[in-house]
Amino acid sequence: MKSAEYWIARGKEMSAKREERLKNAMSWKFDTVATHGLYDLEQALGSHSGSIMEPVYLSPAQAYADSGHMEAALSYQMPTWCYSRIANPSSFFLEETIALLEGYGTDHVCSGLATSSGMSAIRTATDPFLVRDDSLPPANIVTSAQVYGGTFQQFRVRRFEEQGIEVRWVRNPAIFEEWAELIDEGTRFVYGEFPSNPSLSIFDIRMVASLAHDKGIPLIVDSTCASPALTRPIAHGADIVIHSASKVIGASGYAIAGLIVSKMNIPSKVGPDEMRADFATWAKLWPFRDNGPNISPMTAILILNDLRSLRMRMAQMSSTADTVARWLEEHDLVDRVNYPGLKSFPNHELARETMQLVDSGEPTFGFMLSFEVKETVPGDTANTRKFYDGLNMIWRATDLGRVKTVATWNAISTHQQQGEEGRSLASIKPNTIRLSVGIEHPDDIIADLAHAFSAVAPKASLSFV
Ligand SMILES: *Cc1c(COP(=O)(O)O)cnc(C)c1O
Repeated sequence: MKSAEYWIARGKEMSAKREERLKNAMSWKFDTVATHGLYDLEQALGSHSGSIMEPVYLSPAQAYADSGHMEAALSYQMPTWCYSRIANPSSFFLEETIALLEGYGTDHVCSGLATSSGMSAIRTATDPFLVRDDSLPPANIVTSAQVYGGTFQQFRVRRFEEQGIEVRWVRNPAIFEEWAELIDEGTRFVYGEFPSNPSLSIFDIRMVASLAHDKGIPLIVDSTCASPALTRPIAHGADIVIHSASKVIGASGYAIAGLIVSKMNIPSKVGPDEMRADFATWAKLWPFRDNGPNISPMTAILILNDLRSLRMRMAQMSSTADTVARWLEEHDLVDRVNYPGLKSFPNHELARETMQLVDSGEPTFGFMLSFEVKETVPGDTANTRKFYDGLNMIWRATDLGRVKTVATWNAISTHQQQGEEGRSLASIKPNTIRLSVGIEHPDDIIADLAHAFSAVAPKASLSFV
């Protein structure tokens, strides 16, 4: 039998080894980090039967050698995973890798937390800042209005309508003054999406972060659509990054998952010091344990497997999206195209500076674009419907970041529940179509779009009217 002290000392050795592996991984290039994370030969031989790929541990619980081991582990005094609701070796592999990728190119050591979905990542990352504190003015949230439909509803319905927490909407996140006017002593955190889904609006992360930091509060950025292959918000001053890993990080499309990455020592007006010191780790050990939004170990490995090839996939998808955006911009039946790579994009210069393919520095603008179908009668949706129903190869679905191209008619789907007023707040028009470009050949994507447009205005009849 060994004492708890013995195990705590063993734990210190394990942590020192991990530090070494971390340092080593921080010297690698992005693709190498994505491929290996912190899983190396020593780990494989020592704990995982030599498996060259990170194994899937479906086991719900970890066994301990003796009471001293259990005591040291469950008081969180040595590395442990205990029980899969709190942690799991397979989830660790994913969390360590995404934390390294979000901190890539900076001196920031980051920590990660994998969750059951993007929505639970947002909930888990924001809950701790909204705790009751009677010494502060009533809590409010300052957020871009141009956010994912689910996020809009989580803030508006769950936070405001159910909990009475005031939500202050920044209508145009590109206008710095709008953020500045809304943040006050009651604001607990500032929230934005970069770039936003589906209107692709972006904002100056650095300037909004400094606004938040002046008030002693964190900036949380949902960077699902950029991914660390293009933009790493922490490098620009953000404190916490959110991903729906169901999207381009898990592009093959076999899982729903979320990710949270935080840097060390973030500002907050509420919560314990441990929370500010290492937010993601603290959230995992405490509120996460009690709330239970954990990822399944199987899902963690499926996501990790896709994460390895993120950069090359983003390069390919972005190049195709750019070709498609340019084609759409020239089309007679398109009113406007939103794509950060187009000169007509309102914030094109900022996009060029902040969306660059990692390790190449090339401005690269992602897989997502949206466009408005030209209507014969303004405000009508007849042409939009004909176009949408005319798609053959491109899937009609509420999905994005997929290896397969997907078109979404937002007003009737993702942003249907937030109503006309909510949609106008988020700049979503009745004729907006979001296109998430996959890895098919651009010629075939364009051919399908052309086919769908021909359903709106058959060429033959046009020339005779
Ligand atoms: C899909 C999405 C979410 C929600 O993620 P789920 O994994 O579907 O829960 C959050 N933010 C953005 C930008 C998204 O696209």
